[in-house]
Amino acid sequence: MSDPREVIIIGSGPAGLTAAIYTARANLHPLVIEGEPSSTSDQPGGQLMLTTEVENYPGFPDGIMGPDLMSNFRSQAERFGADILTKKVTRVDLSSSPFGVWVGDPTEETPSYLANSLIISTGAKALMLELPNELSLVGHGLSTCATCDGFFFRDQEIGVVGGGDSAVEEAVFLSRFGSKVTIIHRRDELRASKIMQERALSNPKIDFLWNHEVVEYLGGTKLEGVKVRNVLTSEISELPLSGLFVAIGHTPNTEIFKGQITLLDNGYIQTEHDSSKTNVDGVFACGDVQDFTYRQAITAAGSGCMAAIDTERWLEEQDLK
Ligand code: NAP
Repeated sequence: MSDPREVIIIGSGPAGLTAAIYTARANLHPLVIEGEPSSTSDQPGGQLMLTTEVENYPGFPDGIMGPDLMSNFRSQAERFGADILTKKVTRVDLSSSPFGVWVGDPTEETPSYLANSLIISTGAKALMLELPNELSLVGHGLSTCATCDGFFFRDQEIGVVGGGDSAVEEAVFLSRFGSKVTIIHRRDELRASKIMQERALSNPKIDFLWNHEVVEYLGGTKLEGVKVRNVLTSEISELPLSGLFVAIGHTPNTEIFKGQITLLDNGYIQTEHDSSKTNVDGVFACGDVQDFTYRQAITAAGSGCMAAIDTERWLEEQDLK
């Protein structure tokens, strides 16, 4: 094991790589442990690796493909000297500084790396229906973000799965674009707050398909509809759709930090107001792992910049820079 790094960044979505650009330019020689390719959104580059066209990231008037945007972030971080390691962090020890970070076998006694400060940017994953063909349809009619993709479905029929605040909020937002929005919910009542329910129920463009679950995606390379099952009668029917938004919740990637850092009741990392500081001195968090409100690439990138500046100042204060 070598000397402690000044900063290790765990995760490589917009938050982690922005933190890498800023800490690299501040001469902190960051090591970014970017994760390993996998079949879920929990992979190097984060959720944008599973999207197609990104039209709302400022600076790209003609839009940019999600993977291309992340590749640009990565090259920019490397240009200033960030080291990027394609491994998954399997364990951390936040009990004392320098902090221990393991990649590979988590039962090894000695950590793979030590770091004077840590930036956690492991993101969150949108829960999915776990149906065949799901990942290949993401970005091709299937989405988990209405703010990102609603615009592509102007005057088309759209479905939303779920019955919570997210599903209702997405449906109301999508009703601005689509010719019709159908909320497909597995029960006959919504979990969403009353005010959100009223907004959806009174919206003439929103229909409800109660007591139904999606059992199959229809279409080849592009979503053309869904097969749904009536959970009361088991009857199967088909619903033609151009777009389907799955809004059944998100889960933050905080498993390896449990018991070592303060998490909120919903599992997200607690950060101080207007700061990326966690309750552990020297550990900072940014991006979707601590944000369940905005969840946008640009807000994640902004918070990555905050974490880098907070880290730099903290190292300076500790005389560790
Ligand atoms: P949520 O409240 O957990 O709701 C998830 C919904 O998805 C539920 O209706 C659930 O059905 C359904 N669901 C879960 N797994 C499913 C599956 N496998 N197949 C089909 N349906 C499934 O999640 P959320 O809506 O993302 O909200 C998370 C938190 O953020 C909540 O506290 C919410 O109030 C908050 N939030 C607030 C706002 C706002 O105030 N503007 C906006 C968004 C979110 P069941 O109802 O049958 O369990």
